[in-house]
Amino acid sequence: MIMGGKMKKILFLLFVFVSAFAQINIKRDYLIQIKEINLEGLKNLGIKFEDYNLDRVLIFYDNHVVMLASKDEIDYYSQKGYNVEILMQDTVKLNLLKRAYYGETLKLPDCYHTYNEIISLVDNLSRSYPKLIKKIIIGKTTKDKRNIYAVKISNNVNIEQDKPGILINACHHSDEILGAEISTELIKLLINQYKKNDEVTKWVDSYEIYIVPVINIDGHYIVTSSQNPVWRKNTRDVNNNNILDSLDGVDLNRNYDFNWAFGGSEEVGSERYKGEYPFSESENNAIRNLLNKKKFVLSISYHSQGEVIYYPWNWKDRFAPDDSLLTEIATGLASSIKTFNGDTTYKAERGAGTVGQSYTYFYGKYGVFDFIIETGKGTHIYPCEGREKVVNSNLEGVKYILRKGFGPGLTGNIKDAKTGKPLSAIVWIPSIESEDISRRVSDSKFGRYYRLLRPNKKYNLFFMKEGYEVKIIKDVYIKNDGWTTLNVELNPLKK
Ligand SMILES: [Zn+2]
Repeated sequence: MIMGGKMKKILFLLFVFVSAFAQINIKRDYLIQIKEINLEGLKNLGIKFEDYNLDRVLIFYDNHVVMLASKDEIDYYSQKGYNVEILMQDTVKLNLLKRAYYGETLKLPDCYHTYNEIISLVDNLSRSYPKLIKKIIIGKTTKDKRNIYAVKISNNVNIEQDKPGILINACHHSDEILGAEISTELIKLLINQYKKNDEVTKWVDSYEIYIVPVINIDGHYIVTSSQNPVWRKNTRDVNNNNILDSLDGVDLNRNYDFNWAFGGSEEVGSERYKGEYPFSESENNAIRNLLNKKKFVLSISYHSQGEVIYYPWNWKDRFAPDDSLLTEIATGLASSIKTFNGDTTYKAERGAGTVGQSYTYFYGKYGVFDFIIETGKGTHIYPCEGREKVVNSNLEGVKYILRKGFGPGLTGNIKDAKTGKPLSAIVWIPSIESEDISRRVSDSKFGRYYRLLRPNKKYNLFFMKEGYEVKIIKDVYIKNDGWTTLNVELNPLKK
């Protein structure tokens, strides 16, 4: 469209007005700290606090704020009587971010682990306890082809046992490094307390626990090698220019194949860029490999921040088929984790159903009850004391989930009635399951299925497999605690 000079002038003025209004022309070259300020105080200064706002407030907890500011803003805050401490001035925003999150040294504090440190810790434990812990390669990273490891812990770790799986994973988003720390401390706790603490012993004996401490290893390296404390996506070279720039990367928690089309952003360079197609990223494929390999009952996916737990789901006002049970577990999980302030606990919320995230995919396709835990609030990289606090409160959350893997619910093995061969078959409960989710199936190695269910109730079950007669078992009563066992034999169709 061709525009006249007058039109251009009007548009220009409009642009100036809008810019001033949105304050996008303010250059915030200073990193400042105010030590005594509460939420009300921030509001009075016209500062909106959001959990994770890289435009202005970077850190806000314990009534101290670290934020970006212009010279004018600093003067204004001082006039209002606040003691403004200038931490750094720099025209390069990344330098200010490094100072904010890494601290004065501009290096990630030592209490945090690099991926290599996590893996060598696992290697050391494996040497000392070869029956209890081992690492398994589940894939390689998209860009740097690093090995992605799952750490398996059980009482006979070298054998695939017919036991329920519990999955703990972290760092789909690489800047959300607290999850890697919680995972690492969990590994130590399970191994060090085995045969010392009764509950830990029971968990290691009863489950196969898989921990993926870091999924986005390439991104985690960027954060832990002190290059960029807010690197979120993986490091795929989306613009093929052979350098890592701000456009690069795919949001790994938008790349799963469950309502992928409706979630994230199609825009290359967006912090929520979902990739060219579902499972375009090897990291997501690695997780899918693991889900195909083992029957998981429950899972935690660690993120930061907000002290909130997202679970499946609110899909345009339609809830997940297992909603009441999911809500009960999510609420219990949330109330087991203390907030950083210690005055209350995390909150549970149904997450959106229309996103290619872990909880929708794990639950929608595999029936795994997955909970996204947004750890911490006010920063995603705490100083060491803060790290310890968040880790410890979240270990209580893991314990809650580990207690939930004992039911109530229904389990059993499905076999070929003639040969006794284990079958991967559909286990369908029509009173619960809608078309929003995939049919639940037993695993092929043991024919094992698990269904967490509300107890003291009766359910009708359909067992189905191509080439076999459908088996309908009515009024299966679920006992109040523990797993109710129902083994099933399917008859091959007569030819
Ligand atoms: Zn996240």
